[in-house]
Amino acid sequence: MSENEFPSLFCCGRCRVVLGDSIAWIGNDQEEIAFVFSGVSHNVHVKGKKLISGIAETNGCIFFPLVCDGCFSTVGKVYRATPKHLDYKKNVFFLFANAVTSYKLGSTNENVSEFEIEDTVTLEHVSYLMMEIKKMKEVLLVMESRLSALESEFNFCEN
Ligand SMILES: [Zn+2]
Repeated sequence: MSENEFPSLFCCGRCRVVLGDSIAWIGNDQEEIAFVFSGVSHNVHVKGKKLISGIAETNGCIFFPLVCDGCFSTVGKVYRATPKHLDYKKNVFFLFANAVTSYKLGSTNENVSEFEIEDTVTLEHVSYLMMEIKKMKEVLLVMESRLSALESEFNFCEN
C-alpha cells in the first residue's frame, strides 16, 4: 500500500468532529470552493431551511445548509432542486474548503527520534527526584512516630 492509497478524514475546522472521508469523496467544486462527497458522516445534519443559490452557475437552485453536530456551524450545502444540466450537483454533499480540515490516515510520526525528547533523566532531574524521595521519607518518619505515639496511648487505655 503506497502512501497515496491511505484514506483521509475530513473534519470540522472548528471542533474537529469527523464529517466525511476520502472513500466518499467524489471531487472538488471550483465554483463552490468545496469538496464534493457522495455521503457524509452522522455528524452532519441537513438543516431544514430551504435556501436559493445566488452563485452564477447554480443561480436559483434550491439547497439546504449542512450543519456540524459538534459545533452547529454551517460546513456545507446539499442541492435538492437543480435544472437538468446540473443534476450531477443534486443530492451530493458539498463541504466548504474553508470549513474543513483533513487528516490522512497513517500520517502519524512513527519515528520517535524525530520528536524532541526533553523528558530524559538528566543529572538535574535525578537530584530533584532524590530531594522528593528525601521529603517523602521525612513525611513517613513523622507519620510513623505519630502512629507509634497513638499506639502506645491506645495500649495505655486498654491496660
Ligand atoms: Zn464542528
